Amino acid sequence: MSLSPSIQHYINGHNLTLTTSTQKGRTMVATEYHHRGSIIITSQPLATVSVSDDYCQHCLRQSRKTDGGYTPLQRCSRCKSAYFCDMDCFKSAWINYHRYVCGDGDWRTCDEELLERAVCSLIRYKQHPYTPTPNNLDSLPPKETLDITMEAFSCLQDHLDDQPAHITQQLFDLADKVLQRPYIQQQALHYGIDQTTLVRLQSQFQCNGMSVQDEHLFVVGEGIYPVASFFNHSCRPNAAAVFDGSLLLIKAIEPIGPGEEITLAYIDIGRSRGYRQRILRDRYFFTCDCVRCSDQGWLRLLDKMVGEDEEDEEEDISNFVISKPYSQQHQQQQRRRKKTDQLDTLRQHINHWDLLTLSRQYDRLKNIHPDPSQSLTLGTFTHHMLQLFTPYVWSVNNPTLHYTNDQSLYSTTSCSMMDSIPASSSSITNTPPVSPSSIYTPLPAPVSPPHHPPASPSSTPSPSTSTSPPYSSIFLDNGFYAQFDDPCPTAAQPPIQHDYQSILTKAMETCLSFPANPHSTNIPSTGDGLLSIPVFRLSTLAGVHHLFYEAMENKHWPFAVKCGLYILIQYCFLYPPYHPTMAHHLAMLAKTGWNFIVQDSIREKVYARGVRRWIALAKETAKLAFGTRDCHYKEAVNLEWLFRREHQLVLG
Ligand SMILES: [Zn+2]
Ligand SMILES: [Zn+2]
Ligand SMILES: [Zn+2]
Repeated sequence: MSLSPSIQHYINGHNLTLTTSTQKGRTMVATEYHHRGSIIITSQPLATVSVSDDYCQHCLRQSRKTDGGYTPLQRCSRCKSAYFCDMDCFKSAWINYHRYVCGDGDWRTCDEELLERAVCSLIRYKQHPYTPTPNNLDSLPPKETLDITMEAFSCLQDHLDDQPAHITQQLFDLADKVLQRPYIQQQALHYGIDQTTLVRLQSQFQCNGMSVQDEHLFVVGEGIYPVASFFNHSCRPNAAAVFDGSLLLIKAIEPIGPGEEITLAYIDIGRSRGYRQRILRDRYFFTCDCVRCSDQGWLRLLDKMVGEDEEDEEEDISNFVISKPYSQQHQQQQRRRKKTDQLDTLRQHINHWDLLTLSRQYDRLKNIHPDPSQSLTLGTFTHHMLQLFTPYVWSVNNPTLHYTNDQSLYSTTSCSMMDSIPASSSSITNTPPVSPSSIYTPLPAPVSPPHHPPASPSSTPSPSTSTSPPYSSIFLDNGFYAQFDDPCPTAAQPPIQHDYQSILTKAMETCLSFPANPHSTNIPSTGDGLLSIPVFRLSTLAGVHHLFYEAMENKHWPFAVKCGLYILIQYCFLYPPYHPTMAHHLAMLAKTGWNFIVQDSIREKVYARGVRRWIALAKETAKLAFGTRDCHYKEAVNLEWLFRREHQLVLG
């Protein structure tokens, strides 16, 4: 179907173009560079339905932040069962839909309410069609006016012919029911909206519906977002949908160059290959051929590594129609239902895991590997991977994350001082004198050149920078050199240093080289007398996820930190580094790490350095995944401030 000029204008105005190929169908392609963290385009819903009374029925926000704190939701005084932010939301909701159902006492399923809301929108649009004025066409970037949403919706595929007979029958039944509603019946007849129209609508909803999430990634509703539906799916997407109330924002989570396709994930990419393929086939009617699913893709080893052994593998998916029963919330609930014996084994691994010893043992400078003839434990797996590829999956793209850059906290030194210390004079065994103001022992310079070439000093160097800076330092904007805080381990060094694809590939190959027994948990072969567990499998991730929440609820911070670190490693494989799920987890890990330090009065520098890193990464990922107005970013900034203020109190 060809696109109308106003949709073309809207899309092109956001530096995008829709192209069609016989192989991939319609693809959304960038025409200009979209930097990581930028909002590529926004998408208005055709209709949404909230899944809980805790959220405004109109805008899906929980409560609104004002100068005086949070304002609770207001209840409709007539029906006393619907909640709204304020009078504005109530008025809009009343005009759109609530006036029809206020106080009628009928219970509707999500599918039913979504269909009714969409039909009401269609009728209203037919009554008051929107005609764009020349002003609207001139604004840059163009605004998504109602005609664009409506026309985009009419372009969406419905795959009705692909639906199995029993599903089609359900769609017809619901269409009949909705058409009998008094507020729909007459108008629908008048505008030629019949049973077939409603059946097609529902089928469109099924293969284009999206779960609306709040800032904590809890599912708060379901919605139809026609413009967002133009983007294709990938299990390794370069963009992600985040929500501002019910408005969908498509954010670049990778830098996207002109000519590159922009992709979103329709489903949780933390799931197994079999599960993803099944949902994509049964609900969206296509077979995924992304870099993770394709035999030639660079991420093809990942599903081999994480396996298929998900607990809810046998979950019945034959009965769903439109509502996604696979929301993250639901998955978390599913994942928390774990067998007690598996959890007991995991607890043993975590209790046995000595964070301090392993942190020292797997120090980046030492390049020590676990015994390749033994199964990995949760601890050795996590520390080995931490050593191998975090934080490099982030810092390959942002070298400043890799260096100490806070003079008040870390071992920075002025240009003239640095010039007097040639890099070659440091060796791996000597330790430079500790600056009294620094809580961290400055690390010796790495023997080999670091991971990144030194940043070149400004083009007009002052006399003190006339010699090139040592490899172990970076020239900062504030005129200081920072020492290289986190030297890259040999395994992650050239030729793969600028490419996280290579770092991850190397890590996946490493994991798969260890003996693993994915289907048995009763062979004591870890070398520590622990029962062997399939450490990098999804079933293990699900179990540790359960224990992580349990430990946080019980304020058992040392235990929670270990769970959080393990989950981080698994997420580094499963999600792109700046994916919202990653940002959310890093925020929890940073808080958990900080609580651990405070609660146990930890005085070990190795912990402090780790927690500082998780705070920095939480801040960086939250900024790019959610934006600086989001709670994750603000929390990370607060935590950073606390850390600076308290570190000397805590660490002495
Ligand atoms: Zn609202
Ligand atoms: Zn009401
Ligand atoms: Zn895929």
